[in-house]
Amino acid sequence: MIIAIDGPAGAGKSTIAKEVAKRLQWTYIDTGAMYRVVALDAINKEIDLADINNIIKAVDNIQIKIAHIDRNQHIFLNNKDVSQEIRSNEISQAASTVATIPEVRNKLVQLQRHLAKEQNVVMDGRDIGTIVLPNAEIKIFLTASLEERAKRRFKDQKEDSSKLSLDQIMKQINFRDTTDANRVASPLIQAKDSILIDTSGLTIDMVIEEILKLVKERLYVN
Ligand code: C5P
Repeated sequence: MIIAIDGPAGAGKSTIAKEVAKRLQWTYIDTGAMYRVVALDAINKEIDLADINNIIKAVDNIQIKIAHIDRNQHIFLNNKDVSQEIRSNEISQAASTVATIPEVRNKLVQLQRHLAKEQNVVMDGRDIGTIVLPNAEIKIFLTASLEERAKRRFKDQKEDSSKLSLDQIMKQINFRDTTDANRVASPLIQAKDSILIDTSGLTIDMVIEEILKLVKERLYVN
C-alpha cells in the first residue's frame, strides 16, 4: 500500500511522512534526497548546473542506494553515506535545478517505483501522486503559505555561521517553488484525486492525526 505526500518546499512533508510511516510501521521514502544526491554529484564534479548534457552523463554513471537504519533513511552516492552532506542550502537550490531535467527524473522515478513495489511505503516528493505512483491508495497534498513555511525553516536552523535571514529563506523557497511548479517535466501540481491539507496554523500532531484518520477510514489499518 502507498501513501503519497506531495507539496511545496517547507510544508512539513518529511517530518509528517516520517512520523506517519513510523506509526503504521511502514517504510518512509524521501524522494527529494535522491535529487539532492544528483546535485551533490554534479557539484563535486564541478559540472555547471546549466550543462544539461554533462549532468545527464554523470547521472548515468552514479549509483544511488537507500537503506533504513533505525527507521531513518540513509542515502548513498557510490556507496558513500551522504545523508548529511545533501542538507545544505546550496544543495537545496541545486536539486531544484537538476530536477528539471527529464533524463534525471526518469532514472530516479524508476528507483522510486522499485522501492514501492517491495513494501508498504509513505513516499514524499513533488510528483508522487501524479507521476511516480498514480495508483497510490492515499494521496495528500500538503501546503502552507510561503511566509509560514519560511518562518518554520528560519526557526529550525541551527545556531551557526551559515544561518540565513527570514528574507533570504523566503527568497530561496520562492525560487524552488517557482522552478518546481513551472518546469515542463512532472511539475509540482496537486493530483486531482488528492486531499489538500493546508498546514498553516496547524501543529504537526494535528496533521499526523488527520492523515492517520484517513488511513483508518480508507484502508482499514489500525
Ligand atoms: O523534498 P526536498 O526539498 O528535499 O527536494 C529537493 C528538490 O528536489 C525539490 O526542490 C524539487 O525540485 C526536487 N524534487 C522533485 N521531485 C520529487 C522530490 C524532489 O522534483 N519527487
